[in-house]
Amino acid sequence: LAKDKGKSNFQFYTKGLSYSVAYKVKLESDLRKALEQEQFTLHYQPQMNILTGQLVGMEALIRWQHPELGTISPEQFIPIAEETGLIVRIGEWVFQTACRQAMEWQRAGHSDLSMAVNLSLRQFMQSNLVQMLTDILQSTGLSAKHLQLEISESMAMDANHTLRTLNGIKGLGVNVSMDDFGTGYSSLSYLSQFPIDKLKIDQSFLSNGSPRNKAIVKTIIDMANNLEIAVMAEGVESQSHVDFLKGLTCHEAQGYYFSEPLATVEAEAFIQRYKKVM
Ligand code: C2E
Ligand code: MG
Ligand code: MG
Ligand code: MG
Repeated sequence: LAKDKGKSNFQFYTKGLSYSVAYKVKLESDLRKALEQEQFTLHYQPQMNILTGQLVGMEALIRWQHPELGTISPEQFIPIAEETGLIVRIGEWVFQTACRQAMEWQRAGHSDLSMAVNLSLRQFMQSNLVQMLTDILQSTGLSAKHLQLEISESMAMDANHTLRTLNGIKGLGVNVSMDDFGTGYSSLSYLSQFPIDKLKIDQSFLSNGSPRNKAIVKTIIDMANNLEIAVMAEGVESQSHVDFLKGLTCHEAQGYYFSEPLATVEAEAFIQRYKKVM
C-alpha cells in the first residue's frame, strides 16, 4: 500500500512539475508576441483621500488578454517578463499608455488626477530609465508631479545604484512610493537612505486584522507622519477599515471598498462621479 501511495505521489509530482514547466515555456513564448498583437490592457484602480472623499489618483495595473487562456494575472506573467527581459518593452508601453490616459482624464476635467505606475526590478536597473521617463512625460505632456512610481523593497539591493536612480527620478519631479511596505527586507534602512515620498502599507496587514497587525498599521502610519512622508493603505475592503484608518490620520486609501481595478471605460465613469475641477 505504502509503495502504491509513494508511486502515485511520485507520478502526481512529476506530472505537476512537467505541466508547470510546459505552461511556463508556453507563457514565455506567447509573451514575446503579446505586445505587437496588442493583448495587453491597463486597468485602473482609484486611490482615494478618505478625509475629503476625493479621488486623488489611479493606479495602472496591467492585464494580459491571452487568446486561448483568457485573462492572465500580472502575478503570473510579470516574473516571466522579468526573467526574459521582456519587461523593459512591456514596461515602456505601460508608462506610455498610463501617462497618455492620465493626460486625457485631466483634460476631460479632473485636472489634478495623478497616475501611479508599478516598476519592477529589471526596469529599475535599466540605465536609461530616467531618460525614458523624461521622453514619455514630454511626449504625453503629463506633468512630472502627477506621476507616481511604485517601487518595492526588493529593489534596493545595490544601494548606490538605487540612490542614483531615485535621485534622477526625483530630479524630474516624479514621486516615488514604496509599494507593499512592511513585507520586504530592511525597510527602515531604505527609509533612512532613499528619497521616498509615500509608503503604501501592504494589504496583508488590513486583511488579517489581528491586534498585532492593527498595531503594525498604526506604527507605520505614525512613522510616516514622523518622517513627514505620505502614507496610503492598500487592500481597504470595508467601512470598518476606513473608520480604523481615519482614526489613525491615514489620509489615502485604495481597495475593493472603493472600487476594484476598472477597464478604461468604467474608470472614466468613476472619474466623472468624482471629478475635481481646479
Ligand atoms: P500591487 O502594485 O501591490 O497592486 C495591488 C494588487 O492588489 C492588484 O492586483 C489589485 O488588483 C489588488 N487589490 C486592490 N485592492 C484590493 C483589495 O481591496 N483586496 C485585495 N485582496 N486585493 C486588492 P493585480 O492587479 O493582480 O496586480 C498584482 C501585482 O502585479 C501588483 O501589485 C504589481 O506588483 C504587479 N503589477 C501590476 N501591473 C504592473 C505593471 O504594469 N508593471 C509591473 N512591473 N508590475 C505590475
Ligand atoms: Mg502597486
Ligand atoms: Mg501593493
Ligand atoms: Mg503587490
